[in-house]
Amino acid sequence: MALRVEHDIFVVRQRGREVAAAVGLDHQDQVRLATALSEVARDLLRAVGGADVTFAVELDAQGPPRMRVDLAPVRPLPGGRYEPQSGAVARLVDMLGVVHREGDTVVRMSRRVPANAQALTPERLAELRAELGSSAPGSALDELTLQNEQLIAALDEVRSQRDELAELNEELQETNRGVMALYNQLTEELEETNRGVVALYAELDEKSAQLRSASESKSRFLANVSHELRAPVTAIIGLSRLLADSASDPLTEEQSQQVGLIRASATDLLTLVNELLDLAKAESGRLEPNWAEVDLRAVFGQLRGTMRALGTKPEVELVVDDPPPPGTVRSDEVLLAQVLRNLLHNGLKFTERGEVRLRAEFRDDRWLLSVSDTGIGIAPELHERIFEEFYQVPGSTRVGGTGLGLPYARRVARLLGGNLELTSEPGRGSTFTVDLPVGGA
Ligand code: ADP
Repeated sequence: MALRVEHDIFVVRQRGREVAAAVGLDHQDQVRLATALSEVARDLLRAVGGADVTFAVELDAQGPPRMRVDLAPVRPLPGGRYEPQSGAVARLVDMLGVVHREGDTVVRMSRRVPANAQALTPERLAELRAELGSSAPGSALDELTLQNEQLIAALDEVRSQRDELAELNEELQETNRGVMALYNQLTEELEETNRGVVALYAELDEKSAQLRSASESKSRFLANVSHELRAPVTAIIGLSRLLADSASDPLTEEQSQQVGLIRASATDLLTLVNELLDLAKAESGRLEPNWAEVDLRAVFGQLRGTMRALGTKPEVELVVDDPPPPGTVRSDEVLLAQVLRNLLHNGLKFTERGEVRLRAEFRDDRWLLSVSDTGIGIAPELHERIFEEFYQVPGSTRVGGTGLGLPYARRVARLLGGNLELTSEPGRGSTFTVDLPVGGA
């Protein structure tokens, strides 16, 4: 097409739109391309007095086909360059610029044909060329009317997009308000919870102070009562011994039996009182270990002697193994012996046949001193309960005892920097282990 006079601008525009429609650009792209084309056409008419316009389709093996428009100026462009009057024109197409073609300089623009357009085979192109060639161009007025319609449609679309945007904005603000409200509510709830937690902690502190003071009162009470009881009980034992003494007036058999009962009961009572005193002392923190290097071999030797002297049942053997090297531990000899004696005592008490064995094992800088027996054993659910004060496994009370030995032993073991643990299986026996650090607490 030749672009020479003003009127040609309309024709070029119209033709451009027709070609764009024919090769398959969508409606908006048709308008865009036609608009860009009429802008460039006007620029060139003014600057150089016209151009020859060629419509073409580039078929590229790799990418999608492109519609291309070349405008070859009738006179050289000033400076060999072209800048559209309106900067927005370049954005209407994929490419707009100056290219060199067979020694000439042409202004070229191109736009991608969408993938869903009808395939542009050489036959199809020939067909389109024939169609476009036979159609007569409309008048400038027709093109102007059409252009106006397109402008109105574009404006309409812009307005509806703006409305949509405003609506979206409104929604966004609404959402924002919701998020802020939620955030405030959450912050408030968090603060509320925090206040609750702080109050709870204060209450807990108060409760534990109360508990501590209650436990101290209990220990004090036990210590006082036991102390007060000890003197009269000791007196009863002494007096009953005196009554039964051969140097005293002889008693009838009945009387001496009753005096014997009094003495036995008083002795039991004295044991209880002493144990209570020990426990109260350990609990109140007034029991201070006398730290020294303790020779375990000596302690074991002594226990072997004293426990054998107590006389065991003939079916039960008391075995005390010699401790392996290094053989010493930093501890309190009296307290440690007391704990082990207590455990051996229990072992002998609750074993009918087999053995009660004391042994020492040295592992990772710790002593594991264990007393194991082949006695009645303890049900798993009672493994912790027997360390509670006064707890005795039901049925085991007939062999006597107070239920204070194990809680005391555990307290002392902890005081010595270790612990006292139990493994046991009912009917197979029990093992109590005192676990002590070699260097003391
Ligand atoms: P006591 O022996 O004076 O009753 P302890 O505190 O020493 O009190 O023991 C608590 C209870 O634990 C005992 O009454 C007994 O039921 C159980 N018990 C302790 N040692 C053994 C053991 N070696 N075998 C079986 N039961 C045991």
